[in-house]
Amino acid sequence: MKNIDTYDFHGKKVLVRVDFNVPLNDDYEITDDTRIRAALPTINRIIGGGGMPILMSHLGRPKDAYEEKFSLKHIVPRLSELLGRKVKFAPDCIGPEAEKMAASLQPGDVLLLENLRFHAEEKKGDEGFAAQLASLADVYVNDAFGTAHRAHASTTVVAKFFPEDKMFGYLIENELKHMDKVLHNPEHPFTAIMGGAKVSDKIQIIENLLGRIDNLVIGGGMVYTFVKAQGGKIGNSLVEEDKLDLALHLLKVAKEKNVKVYLPVDNVIADAFSNDANTKVTPVDEIPDGWMGLDAGPETIRIVREVIMSSKTILWNGPMGVFEMDKFAEGTRQIALAIADATAKGAFSLVGGGDSVAAVNKYHLKDKMGYVSTGGGAMMEYMEGKELPGIKAIRER
Ligand code: AMP
Repeated sequence: MKNIDTYDFHGKKVLVRVDFNVPLNDDYEITDDTRIRAALPTINRIIGGGGMPILMSHLGRPKDAYEEKFSLKHIVPRLSELLGRKVKFAPDCIGPEAEKMAASLQPGDVLLLENLRFHAEEKKGDEGFAAQLASLADVYVNDAFGTAHRAHASTTVVAKFFPEDKMFGYLIENELKHMDKVLHNPEHPFTAIMGGAKVSDKIQIIENLLGRIDNLVIGGGMVYTFVKAQGGKIGNSLVEEDKLDLALHLLKVAKEKNVKVYLPVDNVIADAFSNDANTKVTPVDEIPDGWMGLDAGPETIRIVREVIMSSKTILWNGPMGVFEMDKFAEGTRQIALAIADATAKGAFSLVGGGDSVAAVNKYHLKDKMGYVSTGGGAMMEYMEGKELPGIKAIRER
């Protein structure tokens, strides 16, 4: 496989799939440029190596045609500023004008193509559309981890037109390195902390992890499906009635594989799903009717902190409670702090999945984690043991 560090980009046009799907306000200003910054090392490496990057991305969810609010032209000023050079912009990602602009690129130039999703062919993985994109360049680099689980034209299909000249960018390389370390080469004890709303979203990842981990901490809304399955009283807490047997099955498999499962012992309950609700702390299986469990309790936090502090590898996905409301954020905040402390002590921690990343950012702990994944859905699927189409397309010959 070709490698971005050693590849000779000199004089080459390089088609780079990036993820510039950034949030814009009503004045089309970028409110968070994290994703653009994440692509800079790859773009700068290509420029520094004498190559000419042709950047392509999606933005938002246009309905297969031009929409002003989803135009990537809004990205040009910030990208130019971050790269320290004026970025050229092609008003359509394929067609004569894009071809002309690509053909006339000189070393030092950077070209950004208009939103790929203005063409329905992008999401369909259309081969003709992919061929038109491929015709613009000599080399293909995929650095859009957030869409690596989608078999779209620009993320997957296009790779076949560059059998000898395709590779990952630094962002995807980094994501793979950290996920592979956790999946295939973890130091023990290895603790997985799974939270969030529903068991159904997390079944596959839990099943894939059970043969690899030593401890499984279960938190968030999915707790109550496990508690009810074991005969506990959960009041009006969130529950998936059709997953009760599955919860018992997962506990049985965990036992067979010698995985120690930590369900909460106590929790913060509320008489309404509201920051103004009345609250109290009860055992997790003694919730009165009309009340619901919305956060981990103090004794649970103490136990989980101990488990985290004695771990060498920690994977965290999903909040411990309804952390969007301050009244029910303490469990999530304390678990984030414990992971930061364990990481400072030498453990490796990987945080992924939209809401745990949001929590880490909320408590300004991103720099204290081992690695925070940039791809919610893609990270989940990789950790479930699935082969992502965008990854496979680069790896296969
Ligand atoms: P997920 O996207 O599956 O990681 O779920 C995240 C969501 O789960 C967040 O919006 C939380 O508010 C929610 N959540 C966490 N704990 C609970 C709970 N005990 N009851 C209801 N929702 C919860």
